[in-house]
Amino acid sequence: MLGLLFLLLPVAMAYGWFMGRNSVKQNTHSAKQDLSIKYSTGLNYLLSNQQDKAIEYLIDAFQVEDDTVEAHFAMANLFRKRGELDRALKIHEHLVRQKHLPNKAKQQAAYELGKDFLSAGLFDRAEAMFQKLLKSKIYSIKSITSLMKIYQSTKDWKQGILLSKAIVKSKDKNLLNSLANFYCELATTALNEDKFIEVIELLENALKYDPDSCRANWLLAKVYENHKQYNEACLSYQAIYLQDSEFFPDVIDNMERCYQQIDAIDEFQKFIKKVYSETGSSSALIKNVGYIEQKQGAVKALEFTLTALRRRPTIRGFNHFIKMQMATDSSQTNLTNLDMINELISTYLSVKHRYNCRNCGFNSSTHYWSCPSCHDWEQMKPIRGLEGE
Ligand SMILES: [Zn+2]
Repeated sequence: MLGLLFLLLPVAMAYGWFMGRNSVKQNTHSAKQDLSIKYSTGLNYLLSNQQDKAIEYLIDAFQVEDDTVEAHFAMANLFRKRGELDRALKIHEHLVRQKHLPNKAKQQAAYELGKDFLSAGLFDRAEAMFQKLLKSKIYSIKSITSLMKIYQSTKDWKQGILLSKAIVKSKDKNLLNSLANFYCELATTALNEDKFIEVIELLENALKYDPDSCRANWLLAKVYENHKQYNEACLSYQAIYLQDSEFFPDVIDNMERCYQQIDAIDEFQKFIKKVYSETGSSSALIKNVGYIEQKQGAVKALEFTLTALRRRPTIRGFNHFIKMQMATDSSQTNLTNLDMINELISTYLSVKHRYNCRNCGFNSSTHYWSCPSCHDWEQMKPIRGLEGE
């Protein structure tokens, strides 16, 4: 089917070319003959599967006119889909050289050429193409997105930050989140070098561009915690819950430590109760049950856990239930049995992935701010459901 399309494309291009030519009535007979020879030679090469030679002749035979430009793009696109990047690149380079094309087609050619360079790993040349399109109405967001991908690959965070003006103007949520993450990358380096003021400034910038960046608040909480500013740390942890309740299970323990430091554990208990009732997450359940046990005893805590697990069963919750049973059961036989079940479940959970990319489905036991598979920012979150939260 794809092969048939390839055969039909030159015919479509020829049709467009002849129609364009007829309407202006300016070709001399010899020129027509010359082009006709080039066209039939190109077609012969195509039929005999010598595609490189065919492209040379066909590009030469068909001058790029308004009515054939789409056919050129279509042919290049098909080459790219077939993985024949060098051929797509040749056609796009040819289009970029055509000074007489309308602005829209010129910009499309530059953008497509940039994409070819990007796929070929020629970042410098891709960057030059996308930089040209920053003011384009149609291609500016796409070009900034590609540029941010390039700077992400080369870890050139400062270069990406130079695009902030254009990103703010675009109002694109994903780009604003990328920008915030570029600031977070610089903040992480500054944090490792213990440059407190610089870290705070960088994170404030991150939150200015994307107030929903839970990574920026997570780093901010970490900095405040390291500097014993526990009130501020607690506020940042609370902000994470409001920004992204799915990521929140990963900060529950740190948050509890900060509340303990300011002697406000009752406040934390209230907060965790609210989190559990709103999300039903296993981490919040386990923490909540711990407080029920402290205040109302083990039996009440066990009852609460059992009811919760009936309503929303999770393996982590069940594992915690077994541990609670072990602490209350004094029979040696029961203890041995429960210990065995607990070990089995713990081993099962330890080989399971904890994180899952909400964008591409990539699973991992380690948390990454940028997904190793699709490279999207802040999409790796604790897995939910029976085997997760
Ligand atoms: Zn992903």
